[in-house]
Amino acid sequence: MTSASQSSSTDRVIVLDGVATTPAPVSVPVARADAPEPAAVVAAVEEILRSGQLTNGTHVRELERLTAEYLGVRHCIAVSSCTSGLMLVLRASRLTGDVVIPSFSFAATAHAVVWAGLRPLFADVDPHTLTLSPDAVRRAAGVQTSAILATHTFGTPCDVEHLQGVADQLGLRLFFDAAHAFGSRRGTRAVGGFGDAEVFSLSPTKLLVAGEGGLITTDDDELAERCRIGRDYGNPGDYDCRLVGINGRMSEFHAAVAQASLVTLEPRIARRNQLARRYHRLLAGVPGLAFPVVHPGDRSTFKDLTILVDPVAFGTDAATLAARLRDRGIDTRRYYTPPIHRMAAYRDVAPQPYHLPETEAAAGRVLTLPLWSSMDDQDVDRVVAAVVDIQSGTVLS
Ligand SMILES: *Cc1c(COP(=O)(O)O)cnc(C)c1O
Repeated sequence: MTSASQSSSTDRVIVLDGVATTPAPVSVPVARADAPEPAAVVAAVEEILRSGQLTNGTHVRELERLTAEYLGVRHCIAVSSCTSGLMLVLRASRLTGDVVIPSFSFAATAHAVVWAGLRPLFADVDPHTLTLSPDAVRRAAGVQTSAILATHTFGTPCDVEHLQGVADQLGLRLFFDAAHAFGSRRGTRAVGGFGDAEVFSLSPTKLLVAGEGGLITTDDDELAERCRIGRDYGNPGDYDCRLVGINGRMSEFHAAVAQASLVTLEPRIARRNQLARRYHRLLAGVPGLAFPVVHPGDRSTFKDLTILVDPVAFGTDAATLAARLRDRGIDTRRYYTPPIHRMAAYRDVAPQPYHLPETEAAAGRVLTLPLWSSMDDQDVDRVVAAVVDIQSGTVLS
């Protein structure tokens, strides 16, 4: 590894026309954690410390009750992360063989499949919503396939009805990686109640924030019970483990933070939607930019505000746009590139030459712009002005 690649992005030196300069400091970050006000948590932290019950106790139970009520599901099982929740739910479901997943997702979707002893089978996304395509699932599924695990990408609800139809037709279980989607709705129904189970993330940049944590939601009593036991090593209390579980428990402190976060959730989602609409309106006339589609009537959390950059019509590609924005102190990400099937870790796990044209096209074009709940309109305007300026510069040159 070279010393340049070891240094952090903030102290990296850029050589421009032979003159060494440091990049502009980040003045617009890509996201900020929605941490609750300290005052909302202090009393609970004190109570937890005095009680001596530090993990998987009354605060966790109360969080499970409140979130199950909010989502309208029978069971909510709090766990240590979305990744451990996904591992647990796949293991607890007694799956075998292959699980069809999108390659256009965060790596943890596939990691959970592999850690559960299963094989990921990558399928393509719908080019409009960037969520798993039901037709692509049908094409990808084989005789070894036992389940589908779809992601509500960026908070956009999946085509849950058609995915359920394919699952029913092929005799597969259906699960959702709902890491981005706490508060998303498919029509009037909250994400959380679809398929056999869904799993949310409570890590800092997600919607419901615990610091670290996850929630498994399901209406299946037996699956819920196996997940509850499974997060505690598989031990129901008599030390005769019923399944090969893990320590996937949530601590009381994390549950207290998440409870405080739940109180402010609705206004934060409303604000993110407002900011997303502002981006959409102000960028609508810029040539070569497109937005993933949220089905009319559905609600996205806009966990991320990702745009698609057509390099020909826009004048430069998404990677160059990201670099030019960074020069102006505006931080972005490229969710999701590389797609999972192209990651080094998956070369041996998924050696087949995959044909995922929509995934490849999206991965080449995506750019995630700054968005956080307490962002000002002026921050959006600044990002938009920079994008417009870069675009007109590329047309002129
Ligand atoms: C963040 C994320 C995860 C992992 O969540 P953790 O709580 O950090 O384990 C899984 N899937 C997606 C799509 C994510 O964005």
